[in-house]
Amino acid sequence: MSWEVVIGLEIHVQLNTTSKLFSGSKLSTGAEPNTQASLVDLGMPGTLPVVNKEAVRKAALFGLAINADICRHSVFERKNYFYPDLPKGYQTTQLDKPIVGAGVVEVQLESGEKKVVRIHHAHLEEDAGKSLHEDFHGMTGIDLNRAGTPLIEVVTEPDMSNAEEAVAFAKKLHAIVTSIGICDGDMSQGNMRFDVNVSIRKPGEPLGTRTETKNLNSFRFMERAIKLEVERQIDVLEDGGEIVQETRLYNGDTHTARSMRSKEDANDYRYFPCPDLLPVEITDADLDALKAAMPELPDARKARFIADYQLSEYDADLLSGDLATAAFFEGATKAGGDAKLAANWVMGELAAKLNAEEKAIGESPVSAEQLGQLIARLKDGTISSKIAKQVFEACWAGEGDPDVVIEAKGLKQMSDSGELEKIVDDIIANNAPQVEDYRNSDDDKRKKKIGFFVGQAMKATQGKANPQQLNQLLKQKLDQ
Ligand code: ADP
Ligand code: MG
Repeated sequence: MSWEVVIGLEIHVQLNTTSKLFSGSKLSTGAEPNTQASLVDLGMPGTLPVVNKEAVRKAALFGLAINADICRHSVFERKNYFYPDLPKGYQTTQLDKPIVGAGVVEVQLESGEKKVVRIHHAHLEEDAGKSLHEDFHGMTGIDLNRAGTPLIEVVTEPDMSNAEEAVAFAKKLHAIVTSIGICDGDMSQGNMRFDVNVSIRKPGEPLGTRTETKNLNSFRFMERAIKLEVERQIDVLEDGGEIVQETRLYNGDTHTARSMRSKEDANDYRYFPCPDLLPVEITDADLDALKAAMPELPDARKARFIADYQLSEYDADLLSGDLATAAFFEGATKAGGDAKLAANWVMGELAAKLNAEEKAIGESPVSAEQLGQLIARLKDGTISSKIAKQVFEACWAGEGDPDVVIEAKGLKQMSDSGELEKIVDDIIANNAPQVEDYRNSDDDKRKKKIGFFVGQAMKATQGKANPQQLNQLLKQKLDQ
C-alpha cells in the first residue's frame, strides 16, 4: 500500500502598515541597520506599547476575506524565549484568542478540480530582528529594524495532500492578501514566509508524526522542500526507522535540508497575557465599515474577467490571481481594445521575458499602456504579428513607445498592393522550378508548398507584407 501525504501550512504575512505593531517607528525598507527601531520595539523598561489600529484593521479585513469569525476581544500574549534578535526576551503574539478564527480558502487545482483548505485561525504578532551572518568575521551582527513589524500568522488545518495543492493554496493566499492590499506580497523580501508541516501515513491510519520546514520564501522552494521531505520520511519509515518531530531548514541552492532543533511545545514558552496591552475590541460598526471597504477578491475578479472579457476559465485564472498581473492585463486591454490579444501577450511574450530576466510584472520595462498601443497597431493592420514581436523587443530595450519604434524603424506593414504585387511577380519569375512543382501538385500539397513563396516574399519585404494580402495575391497568381 502506498503512503498518503498530509500537509499543513503556517504562513507569516507581513502587513504593509505605515508604522510598527506597537510603536511609531517606520517599517524598515532597507534602511541602515538599527536606525528604525525605537525603545518600544526593544522593550526597554518604562516604555509602553500601543496597538496600531491600521494593523488590527488589516488583520480583520483578512478574516472577512476568508469568511472567518472575527474575535471581538482578541488578546495579546507574551511568548517567552531568548534569542539575540529578540532583546525583549519575549515576542508579543496571540494564542488562545487570536483576532481571526476559523475560515476557508477555496483553491483551483490544475486538473480543474476545486479544493477547500480550512484555516484554523490567524493571529497578529510582531516580527523579531535579524541576525546577520555575512560581513562579520567570526561574529554575528544584529539588525533590529525588523523588530516589531506587524505580521499575521495564518495557520491551516492539515488539509493538503501533495506539493501541488500546497503551492496552489499558497498562491491563492498571496492573491488574497495582495488583492485586499494588506501585504505587498514581495516574497523575495520576505513579505510572505511559509512553514510547511509534513507527515505521511498509510491510508486509514491516524496522522503520522510531522516535521516543520521553516521560512520558505518562494513557491518553487516550497514545492521542492515538500517533495524532498516526503521522500526522506518514506525512506526512514520503510527502513524501519521513526520520524522525529523537529524543525528543519531547507537550502534552496543545494536542494538539501537539515534538522535545526527538536520542536518545543507551547508550554515551554510560558505564554501569559501581556499586562501592558488591553484586549483589542472590534465592534459591529467596525466590521460593517470593513465589509463596505472590501476590495475585489480574486474569485470575484476571475468571474468578472470571464464575463466581461470572454476569457476562458484557464486564462482568467492565470490573469486574475496576482493583482499586479490583473491590473496590467486590464490596462493593456483598455489601451489596446482587444482582451484576447492582451491576454495572449501578457501570458505569452511578456511572461516569457519577465521570467527570463527574473523580473516581477511591476518591473516590466514595457508598460501596460505601451503593450496596449502595440496591440492597437496589430489590430488596425499597421504591423504583422511577426513585426509586433520585434517592436516589443525594441520597446523592452527602452527604445520608446511602439508607435515611435514603428515609425523610426520603418516597420509599417506594406499596405500598397501594387508594391506587393510587383514583389510577388518577381518571385514567381525567379523561381520557375518551384512554380512548376506547385502547379503540378494537388490542392492539399499546394497548401504546404505555398509556404516557400510566402517565405520569399517575407524575406524580400523584411516581414512587412500583410500576410492575408500576400497569401491572396500568391494564390491568385500561382493558381492561374
Ligand atoms: P504548533 O503550534 O505546535 O506548530 P499546531 O497543532 O498548531 O502546532 O499545527 C501547526 C501546523 O501543523 C498546522 O498547519 C497544522 O495543520 C499542521 N499539522 C498538524 N499536525 C500535522 C500532521 N500530522 N501532519 C501534517 N501537518 C500537521
Ligand atoms: Mg507552529
